[in-house]
Amino acid sequence: MTVPVVREATPERKAEIFGKVVADVRFQDYVHGCYECGICVAACPSARFYDFSPRKITQAVCREDLDLFWEHVNVDVWNCSQCFSCDRCPRGNSPGGLITIMREVAVTAGLRSAKEALEGGERVVYKIMSTGTQVSPDMLQPEAFPDWGPDVQDVSRNLDLWRRALPPETLHTTTTAWEIDDKTLVELYLIWHMTGVLDMIKAVDEGLHMILNDVMEELLEDHDIVVS
Ligand code: SF4
Ligand code: SF4
Repeated sequence: MTVPVVREATPERKAEIFGKVVADVRFQDYVHGCYECGICVAACPSARFYDFSPRKITQAVCREDLDLFWEHVNVDVWNCSQCFSCDRCPRGNSPGGLITIMREVAVTAGLRSAKEALEGGERVVYKIMSTGTQVSPDMLQPEAFPDWGPDVQDVSRNLDLWRRALPPETLHTTTTAWEIDDKTLVELYLIWHMTGVLDMIKAVDEGLHMILNDVMEELLEDHDIVVS
């Protein structure tokens, strides 16, 4: 994924964003220094496919190299698959955890690169909130996820047929992958609300945030829940 670095960043802005990462309550658990051994890179699936290195990101943070940190927080963090295979670090670091913090700070600080990196994810977020399903069959469209490759074209052409051929417990619809109880959707919404996920969505996509609130309004009323 190529995301342009925000060139107009000032040293003060870089220091501010770096400070937010270090101030995160999880930071002390995730970063303890770096032996530069590269074990995290060897374990990292993203490093096989992208010009991406959890070692470089961890080192930049440990050395407090603000220019490199700025490059990573704007570009590289979005290439992490969040699999945490790098947690086998002999220094006890969690490069994936550090990257999680950096992503969250990039979003909440409203970095333009974060908004650009997350563009296109809104259909997945909307689907999760409205149906509890991350990816449903009707999303298997070639233009929706170009990186899924040419086979998606065949599948999307015969979607109804494929769905009818599946066992009954998977449902035969194309708009949901499985059925989710309304109570679960309400719980999901409240978790997102209380943990700040909805605020993060608002920071990158205000329109999507409004749509999600509209989607949930009736359901919350049905369950007599008032969200403040
Ligand atoms: S595995 Fe740990 S110590 Fe080794 S390079 Fe990665 S972060 Fe540094
Ligand atoms: S969590 Fe990210 S950095 Fe760590 S191994 Fe997975 S893809 Fe690589």
